[in-house]
Amino acid sequence: MPKDRPELPPVEELLTSAVTALGGVERPGQVKMAQAVRDAIESEEHLAVQAGTGTGKSLAYLVPAIRHAAESGDAVVVSTATIALQRQLVDRDLPRLADALESLLPHRPEFAILKGRRNYLCRHKMAAGMPEDEDDQLFDPREVSATGRMVQRIQEWANETETGDRDEIVPGVSDQAWRQFSVTARECLGAQRCPSGADCFAELARERAGAADVVVTNHALLAIDAMEDFAVLPEHDVVVVDEAHELVDRVTSVVTGELSESTVSLAVRRAGRLIEQGVADRLQEAGEDLRALLAVAPPGRVDTLPGSLGMTLALVRDAAFACITALGPRNKDKDDPENAGLRKAAFTALDEVHDTAQRMLDAFGPGARGDEAGDDAEDAGDSRGSAGSGGGANGGGVNSGGTDARSEEVHRAEVVWLEEGRGRVPPTLRVAPLSVGGMLRDKLFGDRTVVLTSATLALGGSFDSLSRQWGLRAGEWTGLDVGSPFDHPRRGILYVATHLPQPGRDGLPEAYVDEIAELIEAAGGRTLGLFSSMRAAKAATEALRERLDVPLLCQGDDSTSQLVKQFAGDPATCLFGTLSLWQGVDVPGPSLTLVIIDRIPFPRPDDPLASARQRHVAATGGNGFMAVAATHAALLLAQGAGRLLRSMDDRGVVAVLDPRLATARYSGFLLNSLPPFWRTTDPAKVRDALRRLTAGS
Ligand code: SF4
Repeated sequence: MPKDRPELPPVEELLTSAVTALGGVERPGQVKMAQAVRDAIESEEHLAVQAGTGTGKSLAYLVPAIRHAAESGDAVVVSTATIALQRQLVDRDLPRLADALESLLPHRPEFAILKGRRNYLCRHKMAAGMPEDEDDQLFDPREVSATGRMVQRIQEWANETETGDRDEIVPGVSDQAWRQFSVTARECLGAQRCPSGADCFAELARERAGAADVVVTNHALLAIDAMEDFAVLPEHDVVVVDEAHELVDRVTSVVTGELSESTVSLAVRRAGRLIEQGVADRLQEAGEDLRALLAVAPPGRVDTLPGSLGMTLALVRDAAFACITALGPRNKDKDDPENAGLRKAAFTALDEVHDTAQRMLDAFGPGARGDEAGDDAEDAGDSRGSAGSGGGANGGGVNSGGTDARSEEVHRAEVVWLEEGRGRVPPTLRVAPLSVGGMLRDKLFGDRTVVLTSATLALGGSFDSLSRQWGLRAGEWTGLDVGSPFDHPRRGILYVATHLPQPGRDGLPEAYVDEIAELIEAAGGRTLGLFSSMRAAKAATEALRERLDVPLLCQGDDSTSQLVKQFAGDPATCLFGTLSLWQGVDVPGPSLTLVIIDRIPFPRPDDPLASARQRHVAATGGNGFMAVAATHAALLLAQGAGRLLRSMDDRGVVAVLDPRLATARYSGFLLNSLPPFWRTTDPAKVRDALRRLTAGS
């Protein structure tokens, strides 16, 4: 791409041409947003833009992004949280925009999609038959044959595909089947050394991305690119983070480590064929100790490190280290090309086990490093230098160190918790940072201009909550709310059922079921029920299927996309569900006239990460409840309420059954996070309004 700076039409002119060509209407919020994105790019100052549904925000950032790419010669990266938005950008918005802007720019805007390496078929793994990672003994025969059929489908598809992109396979295949044909970035041999490097699908995708003006990716790959030492994305100086309200969660997932019997067994299977049996057996035994311990441990946050767990983690760590040492030098692969893939896979799995066990010990401070008893690392003289058997862990299952708990909270950087086993998945220990703000600040915001956007960023009327989570400080960024083209006070009602009791712990109160039934009857179906738990969604479905005369679908009855299709296709139908429906449903028209929310969606009190983050904020002098629980609830409430108006003609009601939304001390913060609907607490008024709406449509 040319590095000289051509004279280009201003952003406003390009936007007008694009909107006209696409048959749309120019909206003041869209123009304002496009100008703000342009200014941010020019001034190199980060920007957060809240743009309500209907603003046309993708054009508002794509036009200045494409202009910048054409002018500077550098690519702009656009990151999304969901595949749905990724597809909308690549399949619909960008091709139409390229057609519209081609004649106004020096060249036709090029765009490409780039995903993580594990999303592409690995030709080397396919050809070389690298180790199958799954332990077949764990599966029931039906699962084995279902996986076998998927494997066969992948093999047939592999002969025809031009992109090697997993998302091309319809219907989709399980992770378990796909893992037999893909590698992670760490497992990849590198194109230079890999015999299939010249035809590698992941490398071809990178090449296409390298030549593009706009590269569409996801938050996970964006985080990996920012954090790893090697570049994953092409060189860029501007990033647009769409669906930015999801950034912190997606980045946290990327940096969450896990350790279980399965992760240890995988490392043993991979290393076992390359090293002495005795060394691999030691890791196997440590894995069995871990399994036995986790099987009887209570799930939840681990605040103090029990001595037994500290010792077992140190055993696992040291046994993994012994296996790593036994594998020999990492650069031996070039003398042993045949085993290069096997060795790389073994190193990756062993590193993961070793590093995660160490990270978990570190999470409890220097006293828990377990550096005293072991000697493998020192004997091996390896610079990774871990050793020991957990001598520093606190004994007897409680924190016996006597450290002041508050000061411990202040200094804690990571949280460890145990997740219950489910089905084939054994109990798993996880470790995640209490905050990813520092990481984002250093790695993502450090050396590029970032534009963050979503329909929901200003919580309680301010960007402060999210900007703090992103690690941005005052003066480093600008916030802009371009509003929404929808006339919320005239087209929507927010009804809070203050006459109902507060939600309790014992499931959905009977009064809630009665209220839901009356509202649905008044609306003639047309209801999206957003519940704070799957248990509540199922209980409501069961109770109301007997009472109501309208079709009632519940999440889990079929695939979510199929259920949403059915719901959108028949106005009488209602759909109940939980988390993925809060954010993923886009149904304009009369099929969605009523959104019911059963309770304020605070994180569960036993959510290990949220509760640890809350305590940490409190220990450092902040308001933990407002910074974590209320922020989480406000974001979800705003997303849920945002399902109601999806087009200019939509009208309807958001009904929140939880009276605390009108009465609690934090209710102002939550209400200020919602669109400016007309508000009422009068059930009769709402039912009348719903009847009128239904009669008029
Ligand atoms: S370069 Fe990596 S991903 Fe590509 S074929 Fe080789 S091992 Fe697989």
